[in-house]
This record gives sequence, C-alpha cells and structure tokens, in this order.
Amino acid sequence: MNLKQTLCEQFDSSSVLVDDAVSAHYESDWGDGETHRPEVVLRPATTENAAQMLKLCNDAGQSIVTQGGLTGLSGGATPQPGEWSLSLERMNKVIEIDPDAMTLTVEAGVPLEVVQNAAADANLFLPLDLAARGSCQIGGNVATNAGGNQVIKYGMTRALVSGMVAILADGTILSNRNKLLKNNAGYDLKQLFIGSEGTLGVITEVVLRLVPKPITKQSAMCAMNSMDDVLYLLGEARTHLPSVSAFEVMWPHYYQESLKCTTNIRNPFTGQHSYYVILESEGHYPETDFDHFCEFLAELMEQDRIADAAIAQSLTDAANFWTIRDGVAELIPMLKHIANFDMGVSPRRTEQCIAEIQIQLKKKFPKVDPLIFGHLGDGNIHIITGTANKQEQYDVYDTVYEIIGQHNGSITGEHGVGTHKKRWLKHSRDEAEIAVMKILKKALDPKRTLNPGRIF
Ligand SMILES: Cc1cc2nc3c(=O)[nH]c(=O)nc-3n(C[C@H](O)[C@H](O)[C@H](O)COP(=O)(O)OP(=O)(O)OC[C@H]3O[C@@H](n4cnc5c(N)ncnc54)[C@H](O)[C@@H]3O)c2cc1C
Repeated sequence: MNLKQTLCEQFDSSSVLVDDAVSAHYESDWGDGETHRPEVVLRPATTENAAQMLKLCNDAGQSIVTQGGLTGLSGGATPQPGEWSLSLERMNKVIEIDPDAMTLTVEAGVPLEVVQNAAADANLFLPLDLAARGSCQIGGNVATNAGGNQVIKYGMTRALVSGMVAILADGTILSNRNKLLKNNAGYDLKQLFIGSEGTLGVITEVVLRLVPKPITKQSAMCAMNSMDDVLYLLGEARTHLPSVSAFEVMWPHYYQESLKCTTNIRNPFTGQHSYYVILESEGHYPETDFDHFCEFLAELMEQDRIADAAIAQSLTDAANFWTIRDGVAELIPMLKHIANFDMGVSPRRTEQCIAEIQIQLKKKFPKVDPLIFGHLGDGNIHIITGTANKQEQYDVYDTVYEIIGQHNGSITGEHGVGTHKKRWLKHSRDEAEIAVMKILKKALDPKRTLNPGRIF
C-alpha cells in the first residue's frame, strides 16, 4: 500500500483530501502568483492526528508544506512541485482564557481576528494586528513572527508567545503550555519555532500573553514637510505622550494611490505633502488624554514641525485613517509580477536608503513605480511595485537588496524569507549564522520533510 492509500485508510475523508478534492485554495499564498496544486492536503483535527500524519510522511520521504491562512507574502506556504500540504484550518478552537495569568490558549488554526475578539470578550487585549487579520492564522503569525501595527509599543509576535505545542518532522510532540512569566528551566525551545517559517516544526497550539485593554486611544493623521520633521515628531511623541502605540508613515504616491482605492474615504488634507503619518497614543485618563494629545499636536504645528493634522473625533475617523494605510490589500492584487519589500532599516537612515533605491530603480527600470509606506517607528518600511516580467522582478529585488545590505538593513523586517528572498539572505546574515541555521535544520528535520527550500 502506498502512502496516499495508508493515509486515506487511517484517517477520514475530511482529514485527507486527495486529487480532485483538492481545491485551488491550497495552490499558493499571497506571494507573487506562483501556484502548484498539491496532490494531497492533510487536515488534522488534533495534535495527535497531525503527529501521526507527519510521522508517516517523514518515514516515506514525502515532503510537506505547512499552510495557515495563506496570507504570507514570501511564498513560504506555496506548495513546491511534489510537496503535499498540511493545513491547520480544522484546528480552530479557542481552548482557554486565564484572566489571572492573562493568557489565552488557542489552536494554531484560529484566525487572528477571532483570537482578538476572544481576548476582547474577556475584557483583555491581544496587541497583535495586521491588515490580513480576517484570514491569517495565529500559527502562521507565530511561524513568521509577524509584526504589524503595534510593534512600537508591544513588540513582535515573539513577545506575545508564552507557550506552545509543536511537532517535529518525525512526529515527536513538544508540549510546553507555559503560562509563567518567569521560567528559566533549560532552553526555551519555543523560540526555535517562532519566526522559523515552518522549517523546524508544525505549531499546533499557542499560549498567548494578553495585556489590559487600553482605556483611551487617540489617533491623528499628520501631514509632514520633511523626514527630519517626521523623526522629530517620533522623538517628541515618545517623550511627551503617555504611550505611542502606532507610528505609520506613507509616502505621497502611496497615499494618493491608496485613496483612489477607497472611494468612500475623504482626504483630510488639501495639497500634497512629503509624508503622511498616522500617530496613535494609548492612555489611562479619559478626562485628560484627548486634550493632552491635541495640545501636543498644536505645539508641534506652532513650531512648523507638522504641516497639518486631522485628529480623530470618533472611532470611525480613526478607522478611516487606517483604511488609507491598509489600502495595500487593494493595491497588491492590481500589480503584476509584484516585487514586495518589507525592509528593515534604522529610522535615521531611512530617507537616504529610500532615496538611493528610488534613484537606482528609476535609472534601471524607468517604468517601475514604487509605492512606499510602513512602520517607521519600528524601522520597517514596505515598498511594493509591479514589474514587467519575472526577469525584471528578479533584477528589481537584486538592486534593492544590495542597497539595503549597504545600509546594514534587513531584507525582511516581518514577512520572512520564504522561497522569494533566500538568494539575498547573505545581505542580512553572515556565513557563520547561516551555517548554524543549517545545523539546526539538520538536527530537527534530517530528512528535509518540512518546508524544504525555504529560508536557505
Ligand atoms: C494585506 C496583507 C497585509 C499584511 N500585513 C502584514 C503586517 O503588517 N505584518 C506582518 O508581519 N505580515 C503582514 N502580512 C503577511 C502575513 O499576513 C503574515 O506573514 C502572517 O503572519 C501569515 O499568517 P498565515 O496564517 O496566513 O500564514 P501562511 O501564509 O499560511 O504561512 C506563512 C509561513 O508560515 C508557515 N506556517 C503557517 N502556519 C504554520 C504552523 N501552524 N506551524 C508552522 N508553520 C506554519 C508556512 O509554512 C509559511 O512558511 C500581510 C499580508 C497581507 C495579505
């Protein structure tokens, strides 16, 4: 009996989809349009099922790609020829909320938005948010160490993971449902799986740290004349506001294109400005926080450090600012052969680095039209652009990553390396580091069963 028959015999038809039962849904993530339909999709309902399936595949030398919500932008979850998929979509239960420990335990296939709502129902807050919230899964967020919009205050996903259940390629289950803030009993193995993009194990359960719900939140969209002013605003906001929870910057071309996609949103400003910043601050004093926020912005406008500002008077106003920022979700599907960057670069070097990128792109690829925005407070900027064909896409990546390397930046601040960026890993990691990554992979997955060819 071959492996496919064995799996079909040992598991029910909801757990193992084969041939025609495999829909186009499993062909790719949000990467760049490359698609491969897997012959088999494994859909375990429990950790034990997933472990049994993995053991059978590993013993038979069948490689597997783990799939979460398939919103990844680096091609990591797109099946490569010959790979079968292991989808976490049926492992979608919220298991437990512990209000004393302030933790939430969930299966890995729960969509991020559902996790956010479960925390809110318990009057607590999961400080992880990204535009793909409705589709991405918490397991995918952990596997990619997702960033998002509140990293400046709360850190990356890594900072929110307290415990985890993960399965190695040979089916070994590592259960560490840790809720303790302090636990130094040996190596913290969960860290290996956070951000390793499914190459070292399959995450099936996560214990997340929650925080108290912020009592107040103030939001503003600021129009800025220069990057110097943007950095000044960042520094002053960190010093004088209770707690900066978002600092997002849009370059004017991105701002205008995003507005075109969101016809029901009004541009709060007349004329064009050099940069647009969404500034948010969280606080504890409903009576005074809003006035303090307004005074802070007025002071900077008086100093000519802010050209213009729109302050949200309601949750709808704030949501409208974010709709402009999240226009990327509408823009990506419009672009062909997309080159999609999530570069890391220190805030102080951002202007110079972006200027060099723009000059080089214009010189070499006159038709390329980069849209630029990102989490400047975290040193993480996105550039997206369509390209003419696969070759130009590659050349655009090559040009930009070279410049990022020269600025001691990172080729990926949050989306991960996947299959797309592995050729350029050398710009962000040295040979010794890459060698140790390969040793870890070999130790945990010697037969290269899990996500082969991702990262390196
Ligand atoms: C509109 C849009 C906006 C986005 N904004 C952001 C943003 O602000 N910040 C950000 O960081 N990302 C962002 N992303 C990228 C993406 O949403 C994140 O990378 C997300 O964390 C991926 O989760 P997923 O469940 O969709 O994972 P998938 O795409 O399914 O998988 C991503 C990687 O993780 C692995 N993986 C998935 N689940 C598991 C698991 N349970 N165990 C082991 N490995 C697993 C996969 O094999 C793959 O390598 C955005 C994407 C879109 C489409």
